[in-house]
Amino acid sequence: MKVLLIGSGGREHALAWKLALSPKLTKFYAAPGNPGIAEHADPVALDIDDHPAVASFCLENQIDLVVVGPEAPLVAGLADVLRAEDIAVFGPSAAAAQLEGSKGFTKDLCARYGIPTGAYRRFSDAAEAKAYVREQGAPIVVKADGLAAGKGVTVAMTLDEALAAIDDCFDGAFGSAGAEVVVEAYLDGEEASFFCLSDGKTALALATAQDHKRVGDGDTGPNTGGMGAYSPAPVMTPEMVSRTMTEIIEPTIRGMADSGYPFTGVFFAGLMITAKGPELIEYNVRFGDPECQVLMMRLKSDLLELLHAAATGTLDRVAAEWSDEVALTVVMASKGYPGSYDKGTPIARLPQTSDGEKIFHAGTALKDGALVATGGRVLNVTATGRTVAEAKARAYALVDQVKWENGFCRRDIGWRAVAREQN
Ligand code: AMP
Repeated sequence: MKVLLIGSGGREHALAWKLALSPKLTKFYAAPGNPGIAEHADPVALDIDDHPAVASFCLENQIDLVVVGPEAPLVAGLADVLRAEDIAVFGPSAAAAQLEGSKGFTKDLCARYGIPTGAYRRFSDAAEAKAYVREQGAPIVVKADGLAAGKGVTVAMTLDEALAAIDDCFDGAFGSAGAEVVVEAYLDGEEASFFCLSDGKTALALATAQDHKRVGDGDTGPNTGGMGAYSPAPVMTPEMVSRTMTEIIEPTIRGMADSGYPFTGVFFAGLMITAKGPELIEYNVRFGDPECQVLMMRLKSDLLELLHAAATGTLDRVAAEWSDEVALTVVMASKGYPGSYDKGTPIARLPQTSDGEKIFHAGTALKDGALVATGGRVLNVTATGRTVAEAKARAYALVDQVKWENGFCRRDIGWRAVAREQN
């Protein structure tokens, strides 16, 4: 099978590594890729925003499957353009990607199909939103409707914070993403991420993960794209997984199909495990980054076979096997992230890795043959172990061998799960 992978981050490096292990793979391209991905796939200089150019490349090179890593090209309709040319693609149509692209769309689907989620209202007027917030009281959650690079959500512990967040949205702090606002009940519990493939009609559960969004140890400081993750999520017991499938995922697949937007790709469900059970916080329509990295470390099955089955409506014929081990990843970022940081700083050394260890490239480039950091999040130092504590110790032992002066990381990834193991 000839495959084109779209993307250039740590998530795509993890997908590339796993896809490259498939005996079915005959030719592998990545656009644009990165130095880690280039160990597995030929980089192609394609403008991924130019959808017709991507389609032409696929037709000329007889690509059998396109795997789209990030959400932006999906929301922009890349999968639709490819499908119109009969090219198999792993990733939803623009209409189905509204599950991530519009919080209001998802909340309305939940309401129609009885999917457990926080009570909510949608607003396009600040005064009405404020009146509702005053009536409901704090804590309460204010969300810009559209894609706001993870920044459009305010979990307001006071009424004043909620009112200020409404002003921010309508004053354009999140651009057009904030033209509509969702106000949602605060959910109390432990968060977990659940991943599941869909081919439009069938669901195939993958695995669970937990991440750390804050930049500082002890989950303090500003929010980031994610500073580390581990899989599985201890809070996702077999009962919670089974309830998530029947109460959240299956009605979503039905709802999307009934609405004329069958969903092909991966559901990344952000859940709150409350006293009532799993409740949906949000959907993403692609693998999480860095959750994907820990999932790929634990996947024993052929990833290419699974993604191809999802893309071609044959998910009922495949199964996914997982290692019982824990995988944990530590994100190494450029000093200053998530604020401003220097670009192009040299990464002098990456350590050799053994089985069960991988360093994924998230934001690197080669400059005159030398590896440099180009992004905020730069490396995903990943290891497996029989316990979270063991995976954590192995990952940090590798971190300590990375020579990159401008890099930093949190030192406590997995702390909650490690504390749980010790109890
Ligand atoms: P989202 O972008 O919708 O995932 O929200 C970002 C983060 O805000 C989530 O990961 C949660 O930590 C938090 N959050 C979102 N919605 C709620 C809610 N209804 N109750 C409590 N926390 C929430």
